[in-house]
Amino acid sequence: MGTLPFVGVVYAKKLEKLNIRSVKDLFYHIPRKYLDFSKSSKIAALQIDELATVKGEVTSSVNQYTKSAKKIQIAQIADSTGKIKCIWFNQPYVVRIFHPGAQVSVAGKIGWFGREKAFISPEYEVLTSGKKALHTQGIIPVYPETSGLSSKWLRRRLSDTLKKYTKLLKDPLPPEILKKNNLMSLSQALKCIHSPTSAKNAKDARRRLAFDELLALQIASLKRKREWQKKNISSKIEINQKAIGKFVNSLPYKLTNSQNSAIGEILGDLQKNVPMNRMLEGDVGSGKTVVAAAAAFCSFENGCQTIVMAPTQILANQHFETLENLLSPFKARVSLITSAVKKTNLGRSDVIVGTHSLIHNKVNFDKVALVVIDEQHKFGVEQRTHLVRLTATAPHVLTMTATPIPRTVALTLYGDLDLSVLTEMPKGRKKITTWLVPIEKRQNAYKWVGEQISQKKIQAFVVCPLIDVSDKESMENVKAVKKEFEAIKKSLPNFTVGLLHSKLKNKQRESVIAKFKKGAVDILVSTPVIEVGIDIPNATIMVIEDADRFGLAQLHQLRGRVGRGKQKSYCLLFTENSSQKVEKRLSALRTSLSGFELAEMDLNLRGPGEVFGTRQHGFPELKIASWQDIDLIKKTKELAQEMLEI
Ligand code: ADP
Ligand code: MG
Repeated sequence: MGTLPFVGVVYAKKLEKLNIRSVKDLFYHIPRKYLDFSKSSKIAALQIDELATVKGEVTSSVNQYTKSAKKIQIAQIADSTGKIKCIWFNQPYVVRIFHPGAQVSVAGKIGWFGREKAFISPEYEVLTSGKKALHTQGIIPVYPETSGLSSKWLRRRLSDTLKKYTKLLKDPLPPEILKKNNLMSLSQALKCIHSPTSAKNAKDARRRLAFDELLALQIASLKRKREWQKKNISSKIEINQKAIGKFVNSLPYKLTNSQNSAIGEILGDLQKNVPMNRMLEGDVGSGKTVVAAAAAFCSFENGCQTIVMAPTQILANQHFETLENLLSPFKARVSLITSAVKKTNLGRSDVIVGTHSLIHNKVNFDKVALVVIDEQHKFGVEQRTHLVRLTATAPHVLTMTATPIPRTVALTLYGDLDLSVLTEMPKGRKKITTWLVPIEKRQNAYKWVGEQISQKKIQAFVVCPLIDVSDKESMENVKAVKKEFEAIKKSLPNFTVGLLHSKLKNKQRESVIAKFKKGAVDILVSTPVIEVGIDIPNATIMVIEDADRFGLAQLHQLRGRVGRGKQKSYCLLFTENSSQKVEKRLSALRTSLSGFELAEMDLNLRGPGEVFGTRQHGFPELKIASWQDIDLIKKTKELAQEMLEI
């Protein structure tokens, strides 16, 4: 299908803002919701608050000024049963087309205008004989809009274009597949998504288009899997159980069952001739690093190199320290790449730790048997793609994430990855006590934090949503780090307070975190940038300002920065929003301690974009399907497998 045939430059620009560049894009501009105007009423029967559609004749229409000098439009329409007024605000052009005598249709909510019942800001259209009403009768689509491009305009264009083009559409799915999965044809689905005959019809249309979307994802991930499996491993690894036993015995703690089985699965992969491509998923603090260390240990035992990529320099530093502690007793040489290190120094290291960007620039992957990607954010899709393209051989790859991706999502999007999940926490962790603190107890709560720090010599985080106080009206009461930093310094003058946010230079950020780690800073006031994986056992209090602004999963991850040491930990959630909905949502954190549970809840309450911060996590946004379409996810997976096996 070609470019849009009927639009001039001005509209073409506006359409581009909605990512519509071709007829196909227009067809796939999916309604955001529908208005149900399927009920036609007579004027005499209209009730307050009812959503109704009325056909009638215009008897009068005028522009008027209100007392506050705003323009309103009042039109009166009549049918065989009575008369009713329609009111619009600041839409003078309505009066121009609603001239007396015109046959019109209006649809919307009935409200009060003074003491009269009236349509308030209804949808409207002048009826022309022989043409179907597009905006006021039946199930009416409402589209994502942009300034100067209304749903009304889109409805009209879609109606014209669909008529012209749908017959030319070829369905990529054969009839037997449609039948088996109970799906509409593509041309019918496109027609019905934009002009459904009923709510059910719209749902069926959406289902067909969602099927296509998920199928494309499944095929892409299966193809990635094949691509990966065609590679040869770069170095053969043999597993020496006795040596592994020594490593495990050298640890300062006993591994959890989950950690043991994840290590088992990983070692199983490492012995194969096909490179591993595995994702290790585990809640914050579940102990993923030591699992990666066990794999790095095997690689080292075989005389091979391991690379560990971290998302930030701060986490790279932390991994370096941890891995050095765990591996140096076995004479493994662990090194840290910083921006100052030269490429040539790395040849003699067994384990190389650095940020993604530094590693890509400085490391030669030829001698590398294992790559560990500690992603936390982007799931390493880019990094893995990079590795596949690099050479004919590929290293074993272990991707780690603390984001609780539901299994269905993991299997669709990352169907090319094998999955290991850490389902339990290391023993002996003290439960983090979580409190919801109402606004009137704020002062006392801060006083309590101060006392805890003096008495127990512990440290505290304070997280605020913003960096600077916002001048947007809706945001002006949202807590900003810079302001809170000053306020806390004043109210708790005996303590050292640190400030951390994303606008600081890397060096400054690292230095603040290093001071906090050393214990030289008592309270760290921060935006949510504090790294997911940061491990500071002495920090046992997490205060979150305006907690209602965060998703449950995100709050859980923030809370996961404490509760890592031997002391009891606390999480204080502050909110100025006293609505029951917010209270209910936040209370879930008091009772549920699992990231998976909370993510599921968020998924139901707010949708995946909110849960995972879609863009930040590199999740492709689904346009039509949703991650809750479990049945479609299964069906498309099976079909993709069949299709690729032919
Ligand atoms: P994450 O999964 O969030 O990356 P880490 O690997 O940073 O978690 O581990 C968190 C803390 O738990 C570390 O201090 C680590 O030493 C400790 N830890 C890991 N495994 C165990 C275990 N089996 N028993 C006790 N402590 C453990
Ligand atoms: Mg970690």
